[in-house]
Amino acid sequence: YQPQINLISGQVVGVEALLRWRQEDGNFVPPDRFIPLAEASGMIVSLGDWVLRVSCLELVRLQALGLPELRMSVNVSQIQFRQPDYLTKLMAALKDTGINPKCLELEITESVAMEDPDFMLETLHKVRALGISIAIDDFGTGYSSLSHLRQLPIDRLKIDRAFVTELGQDVSGGHIASMVIELGQNLKLTVIAEGVEEEFQAQTLMRLGCHEAQGYLYAKPLTSEQLTEWLEKRGAL
Ligand code: C2E
Ligand code: MG
Ligand code: MG
Repeated sequence: YQPQINLISGQVVGVEALLRWRQEDGNFVPPDRFIPLAEASGMIVSLGDWVLRVSCLELVRLQALGLPELRMSVNVSQIQFRQPDYLTKLMAALKDTGINPKCLELEITESVAMEDPDFMLETLHKVRALGISIAIDDFGTGYSSLSHLRQLPIDRLKIDRAFVTELGQDVSGGHIASMVIELGQNLKLTVIAEGVEEEFQAQTLMRLGCHEAQGYLYAKPLTSEQLTEWLEKRGAL
């Protein structure tokens, strides 16, 4: 779980669930390698359902510790999303874990959001009707149709790490991060930056009007125990 911070208040507003695969020898297989395999084999469906449930239970635990408003962001793969029974499973997970749907957020990547507009529009509306919020992950890397984006029932744009890294450089044509923030403001969406590693990046993002940030500057992805410790040290609990 990696914390997400409100840039103005400094408060921890959420955490993103990031799946880890530890092998018997203690080494980790990176998600960039096993997620595509899980997608190709179809295992992502049961794996994703497990991630959702474990994350909901972790949210229940964290909220009970004294963070009742905390949000949990869960990455959803395109294959999962396209299962005819995806919404049924989503509702079952909400019911079984008893979480407040308002505190759950699904992250779909920009490329997924832009594919098959009619299907996406309909499905996202149904997810939103459950009270769950939607973030567009890796924003800026895909080919968004602005007219489609404007129609989508979404809550948050997540600026891709590459554009946060770029903030220190003098790039011709201006910073993508700044354009995404402005776009978010016009569309009345919250904007979160991922991969924030340096204080000056956080400062620049805040100055540009970005609302939230996530990255090594605050914390790396943590186990449940590490997260509790980190929250305690920060005085958030
Ligand atoms: P993502 O959702 O865009 O996650 C952000 C990635 O950036 C994570 O990599 C995170 O560990 C990394 N990161 C966060 N802050 C920093 C930073 O300050 N510097 C640097 N260099 N990296 C940072 P991770 O955990 O390796 O995950 C990679 C991708 O795998 C994720 O990208 C997501 O697309 C996918 N993934 C992870 N967990 C799940 C899951 O449960 N389900 C699905 N479908 N995909 C997942
Ligand atoms: Mg993500
Ligand atoms: Mg991302």
